[in-house]
Amino acid sequence: MPSSHLELQLPRFSFGIGDRFGHQAAAQLRACQLAFNAGIELAPVWNKSTRAHSIIGSGPEQPRQAADAAIRQLDWTHAYFLDADHINLSTVDRYLESCDFFTLDVADAIGRPAERTVIEDWTARHQELLTRLEIAGLPEPLHMSRERVEQIARHYLTAIQTAGNIYRHIEQHKGRGRFVTEVSMDETDTAQSPEELLVILAGLAGEGIPLQTLAPKFHGRFNKGVDYEGDLNFFAREFAADLAVITWASEHYGLPRQLKLSIHSGSDKFSLYPVMRTAIQRTGAGLHVKTAGTTWLEEVIGPAESGGEGLRIACEIYAEAHAHRAELCAPYAAVIDIAPARLPAPAEVRGWSGERFVRALRHDPNCSEYNPSLRQLIHVAFKIAARMGRRYLDAMAAAEPLIARNVTENLWVRHIQKIFPPTSLK
Ligand SMILES: [Zn+2]
Repeated sequence: MPSSHLELQLPRFSFGIGDRFGHQAAAQLRACQLAFNAGIELAPVWNKSTRAHSIIGSGPEQPRQAADAAIRQLDWTHAYFLDADHINLSTVDRYLESCDFFTLDVADAIGRPAERTVIEDWTARHQELLTRLEIAGLPEPLHMSRERVEQIARHYLTAIQTAGNIYRHIEQHKGRGRFVTEVSMDETDTAQSPEELLVILAGLAGEGIPLQTLAPKFHGRFNKGVDYEGDLNFFAREFAADLAVITWASEHYGLPRQLKLSIHSGSDKFSLYPVMRTAIQRTGAGLHVKTAGTTWLEEVIGPAESGGEGLRIACEIYAEAHAHRAELCAPYAAVIDIAPARLPAPAEVRGWSGERFVRALRHDPNCSEYNPSLRQLIHVAFKIAARMGRRYLDAMAAAEPLIARNVTENLWVRHIQKIFPPTSLK
């Protein structure tokens, strides 16, 4: 299915931003505006998960309204999108109206074995996968045995068919070409190899999905709010291999030409940015980076920095999170790594100045008082701020100019300009 200019297409670079309380869309867009001014063309994509909606008590129309208002306020004339993040057939319906970007989460179906005959039929239709494949950018050609292809198909075909079902459901309601489709396989236990990615992409193309971004799982830990934990050299090879396979598959299976990788939990992965930037600059590839909670953390930093009631509330959020950390951390077990011994006692934190609190919380790896355990705990604590209701919202409103400045600076200085090369330089 060749993509025509009439279809809604992501530009080469796009940047997923979350706005849990719905107050920072303009500050976030301002970061994209600074990027454009510096020659980095990218599309903002606002995303909010079903879990975040249920904790805050919002619905998909709320980020849409906030984004549209920011677009008008800043006179943004370029593309922007609203992402129904990690949806499946049971959750997608409430997003159909407000969203034009859908992240189809099929992780639960991975490993659910496909039927023998389905696997054999599928493999028979993909004889090309059994040949020696020279893929530009891979250190060695891929050459899979029939057993290997069937083994991968057995593991992934159910997930691929699930993606097809979700896609067709959305297409029926929105119309073909009226939305961007991403498939996510990141929330699973094992990273996909280049062979697996190839089978997955062949399968998704066969389902007729005009896939624009794919979120694979990578090796190493992508903990929320903090840097990557893992082998950087390995990541560099893995990222380059995934780029190579994506490019080859988009050419050979008629997937959209600008098909690109999507990096989930991509915020605060400072050590990965030079690697990704070099690779996309070298290959001319596109990239979608989805941030996770980095804006919310600025919404605690701002009130803390402003002192008084704002600092009191920041300390309270920490104390509550500390008291309920087992409950708060449980849903995030795979994506946080808190060292309990590194968490200061709430009584100690209550004695901190605003500056001291900010030095512990802000992601500045060069600051000796920066505390990744405290930062991850606050990351999962937005439920507590939501429960505070009016008191938190008032503190946020009082610190608004400071928060807005921090939100913009965090996205632009620590993220966008480190990740994306200027668009004119291929
Ligand atoms: Zn994800």
